Amino acid sequence: MMRFTMSQDTPGSTATAANPTQQGDALENLLHENRKFAPSEDFAANAVVGAEVYAEADADRPAFWAKQARELLTWDKDFTQALDWSNPPFAKWFVGGEVNAAYNALDRHVENGLGDRVAIYFEGEPGDSRAYTYAELTEEVKKAANAFESLGVAKGDRVAVYLPMIPEAVITLLACARIGAVHSVVFGGFSADALRSRIEDAEAKLVVTADGTYRRGKPSALKPAVDEALSREGDGNGHTVQNVVVVKRNGQDVDWTEGRDHWWADTVGAASAEHTAVGHDSEHPLFILYTSGTTGKPKGILHTTGGYLTQTAYTHKAVFDLHPETDVYWCTADVGWVTGHSYVAYAPLINGATQVMYEGTPDSPHQGRWWEIVQKYKVSILYTAPTAIRTFMKWGRDIPDKYDLSSIRVLGSVGEPINPEAWMWYRDVIGNSGAKQSPAPIVDTWWQTETGAQMIAPLPGVTATKPGSAQVPLPGIAVDVVDENGASVPNGHGGFLVIREPWPAMLRGIWGDPERFKETYWSRFETMYFAGDGAKKDEDGDIWLLGRVDDVMNISGHRLSTTEIESALVSHPAVAEAAVVGAADETTGQAVVAFVILRGDAVDSGDEIVQDLRNHVGKEIGPIAKPKIILVVPELPKTRSGKIMRRLLKDVAEGREAGDATTLADNTVMAQIAASLKK
Ligand code: ATP
Ligand code: MG
Repeated sequence: MMRFTMSQDTPGSTATAANPTQQGDALENLLHENRKFAPSEDFAANAVVGAEVYAEADADRPAFWAKQARELLTWDKDFTQALDWSNPPFAKWFVGGEVNAAYNALDRHVENGLGDRVAIYFEGEPGDSRAYTYAELTEEVKKAANAFESLGVAKGDRVAVYLPMIPEAVITLLACARIGAVHSVVFGGFSADALRSRIEDAEAKLVVTADGTYRRGKPSALKPAVDEALSREGDGNGHTVQNVVVVKRNGQDVDWTEGRDHWWADTVGAASAEHTAVGHDSEHPLFILYTSGTTGKPKGILHTTGGYLTQTAYTHKAVFDLHPETDVYWCTADVGWVTGHSYVAYAPLINGATQVMYEGTPDSPHQGRWWEIVQKYKVSILYTAPTAIRTFMKWGRDIPDKYDLSSIRVLGSVGEPINPEAWMWYRDVIGNSGAKQSPAPIVDTWWQTETGAQMIAPLPGVTATKPGSAQVPLPGIAVDVVDENGASVPNGHGGFLVIREPWPAMLRGIWGDPERFKETYWSRFETMYFAGDGAKKDEDGDIWLLGRVDDVMNISGHRLSTTEIESALVSHPAVAEAAVVGAADETTGQAVVAFVILRGDAVDSGDEIVQDLRNHVGKEIGPIAKPKIILVVPELPKTRSGKIMRRLLKDVAEGREAGDATTLADNTVMAQIAASLKK
């Protein structure tokens, strides 16, 4: 079977020229994927939400969300209005309501007799493990809340968090939320510089960190970066940090500033476990989080309380078909990324779920580590990123095949478009282990730091899923694909992804910069939120994400998507990963340049493979999409959340010095690429 057939709108055909939405800024769509997988009868019959939710939400969006807010959360004071949109783009949700995030995530479950349910199964990289019941986690959070208050942190103050994936990260976030302090998590992998600028931007009063963590079997330090960040001259007025709380994790020696530094065990450990949570205004700031920095300088995204908690909890329940009494949920995202906020620290606990938290890398101490964890805890819902799936494909199916993964019943993906090839592998290898009647459904979830919660995703008991497509806006969410004038494109066409109506978990602004908020998201199409991503609607009206609008290539006047060409490359058996950029070209305006990582056994196949790959893309998509240059590289530049940073590859393709690479996960990658290209 040929996986992709050419569409009617192939560049050069008359349909293209005749259709106004195909001109100007609109994206052309070339890939066609025809596979579809309906939910099994059994799954559909037991699903927590059914198809009726769409109509219910369409009838009255704010009323739909108000109902979810009252069902999913316990309010200290009920709200009087679901949505106030009188001053766009500044929304207020659940106006007049008061709610405490930590009370909802913890205390109320204990009050409801669920104190003995495991909240977190923690698995450390060296093999240590700890479990926290809801009662135990509640106690820890109360102690931390008391400790932070005793260090002078009050409602509205900012707390910078620079921690590895350990339970103290979740405890810290919830303790801040409990007292109304605003947390700002900085990735543990970021430098002292990045930490310093984020501490300054938020004017943080307290920093919570650890001596260090473990990375690939070795201790890896964190505290020295905090010391450096706080000692150096800042950009302006100096920093506002008064105290640093340090978790002892790996026992490394650390420098100590008396009076400023406090061990977690001494402060939190010694604090009282009595702490009463009070409700905070629904619009009280919950956290600031800087975007991944995939396309440029990170933005400090501000989220508030009531709307954020409602949409994260609703989507977590509906999209993962959560049955909290029986499911074991594992989201592999780091807490430094928005996914680690919404779908590790908040939604699972609000919903009373049992979750797994893992500190380390997937290949420590061996490449089967994740599958060993799934087997050990009988994980039933797994939520991860395409970059991880492609890495496991590269390592080969023999590794997961050694483990019992039969507990898995829902698989999630987030962070980048998932190539159809990776989607099928995820389904067949991870989702179909053991004697299953039918493989686990895959939910591809599109959303952003800015959206706070999932926005486009199938519902696993309702939607017939398609490999590579996030498909449908969630109930109560008004997503559309529009042309350059803001008009909705017809099915079968591409354009810009927008959100037409305010949603509960939407960002409330960029910290300290309301103008940048308006300019970045609300100026391209005045009344709609512009997400920055290109997308297409297929013949069924399902949505396909096509990559960043900034990354769209213009080849001889045709606007092509990086994602489609990458997916075609990844569908070749020799290719493990691919990244495509448009590089300036004298004749065609831009030319397609592809960077590929080959699978183990294909690495020595020389120039032949390059020709073979060009032909493969020509066959799968069309001659216009054939890369002009294919460069075989050992690695691709990625952010800490696993996204490919195409702008750095574009610099390479156009022969420039690579630009700002401070948010790279591995800062040696650009040098590795340069070295491999010199050979
Ligand atoms: P920056 O905004 O600083 O460049 P970033 O956009 O990578 O960084 P995030 O908010 O973590 O920061 O990522 C959101 C983006 O990730 C989306 O705009 C989209 O491009 C991509 N994305 C997330 N999930 C999906 C998905 N399921 N399918 C396709 N793309 C996705
Ligand atoms: Mg972004």
